[in-house]
Amino acid sequence: MSKKSRVRCETCTHFRSAPYEARINGCYLESNMPGRQKDAFLDEQQIPGNHEKINLRGDCSDHQARPASLPFWKRLLAS
Ligand code: SF4
Repeated sequence: MSKKSRVRCETCTHFRSAPYEARINGCYLESNMPGRQKDAFLDEQQIPGNHEKINLRGDCSDHQARPASLPFWKRLLAS
């Protein structure tokens, strides 16, 4: 019996969480969004896809892993 690895939306580049990244938690992949605005000033009107429903079984094929963040001391040296 093979065990498939499950993916989590929180580790995906398409996921944005409130309140810092977006107004509403959800999937901001264009094909999953019921309401999309092209202009940046209309960003508040965007309606994200329901990530819990789309990735219910943890097998979303559109999952794209977020790049790993650098440790604090490396970010400090880079600035
Ligand atoms: S539903 Fe899929 S594409 Fe959307 S945030 Fe979750 S894993 Fe990413």
